[in-house]
Amino acid sequence: MRGNEDIWEELEHQVSSCKRCKLCYTRKNSVLGEGSFNTTLMFVGEGPGEDEDNLGRPFVGKAGQLFDKILQSVELDRAEIFLTNIVKCRPPRNRIPEEAEIENCAEFLNAQIALINPKIIVAVGNVASNYFLSEHTKLTISKIRGESFYLESGIIVIPIFHPSYLLRNSALEEGSPKYLTWKDMLKIRELYNDMKEKI
Ligand code: SF4
Repeated sequence: MRGNEDIWEELEHQVSSCKRCKLCYTRKNSVLGEGSFNTTLMFVGEGPGEDEDNLGRPFVGKAGQLFDKILQSVELDRAEIFLTNIVKCRPPRNRIPEEAEIENCAEFLNAQIALINPKIIVAVGNVASNYFLSEHTKLTISKIRGESFYLESGIIVIPIFHPSYLLRNSALEEGSPKYLTWKDMLKIRELYNDMKEKI
């Protein structure tokens, strides 16, 4: 029987050689994701940006550094969670991924979710939030961030603002996007602790 590591290697190979959508022609590197394969907590963003495309890693560059600070603010570490994106290759000029690109790439994300079997998925930004929650709500992320949505599979999805949005909105006062994200992260941390205790 094949171990999980072999399956991840195969997935990495499939993604790096994938030509299912036109993003393959402009990517430097595909970005499958990274972190713990045995976690209950998964973060899913929109897609790789320029730094991610250059390095083949998710959530790096300025937005990634802010993301690390957000994790640290609730004593979470990259090594204990799993990070990935809706699409695995960079959309040119960081445009929003097209519907067909999202659909073509969904098989890889579904495989990752099946392998990790998370209890909580944090949908980072509007694209990820729409992807998981379009059947639950048509509201944008500013209206639903921090709320818990239960998927049929039992997974809890919680949307938060994307760090690149927070870079453009850097105020810290009560009610600001950064302040709200910190509150959302405290909630996620608490839920994650509860899940760990139940395992
Ligand atoms: S974005 Fe996804 S579907 Fe498109 S080429 Fe990359 S891996 Fe394949």
